[in-house]
Amino acid sequence: MIVESQLDVSNAVRRDQVPAGDYYMEIVKKGQTVRILDLEGNQAADTLFYNANDPAERYSAIDTIREQGNVYLSSGTKILSDQSNVMLEIVADTCGRHDTLGGACATESNTVRYAIEKKCMHACRDSWLLAVAENEQYGMSKRDITHNINFFMNVPITTEGGLTFEDGISAPGKYVELKAAMDVIVLISNCPQLNNPCNAYNPTPVEVIVWDE
Ligand SMILES: [Zn+2]
Repeated sequence: MIVESQLDVSNAVRRDQVPAGDYYMEIVKKGQTVRILDLEGNQAADTLFYNANDPAERYSAIDTIREQGNVYLSSGTKILSDQSNVMLEIVADTCGRHDTLGGACATESNTVRYAIEKKCMHACRDSWLLAVAENEQYGMSKRDITHNINFFMNVPITTEGGLTFEDGISAPGKYVELKAAMDVIVLISNCPQLNNPCNAYNPTPVEVIVWDE
């Protein structure tokens, strides 16, 4: 559902531009609001959330889908952890629908889906692994990389229950905004995928904006 934000960017406490193929790994405190802004449109922001005080507690697609009774994420969605605690709530969304079924790209899946010579191409899973390696303060490792949310990505379910990767429904300037219900680590891989239409074959930067309330 489309809900526009009432927040003013000039009041933000933090703004970061994340190039395609790069990552964002920061703590968003309880009560703060974080916006992911699709600057040029049709970009996929592959996102993981962790309890900042205990990263063993993390985003759960299963619990989130079951509790809201819908496979798509949008305004009103409560992002639940694997302990069924509310981590964040989507409070504004001008895109209207986000995927949590399609998973993230990896060099292995690129090889299986596209071609053996895609093995060396940059992938979201590598960006996450680089993020946890470069941010030792969180005490995380490869085993902490689990299933994710693909903000702005369009993975419609067919009437037969199949999944398809389709051209995005996002556009330049569309955003999703989440209010944190606990201190969370936000880990985003701004997807570098060039082989499917999730980025319109042209990965572009996103901006991450944080407000104190
Ligand atoms: Zn990706």
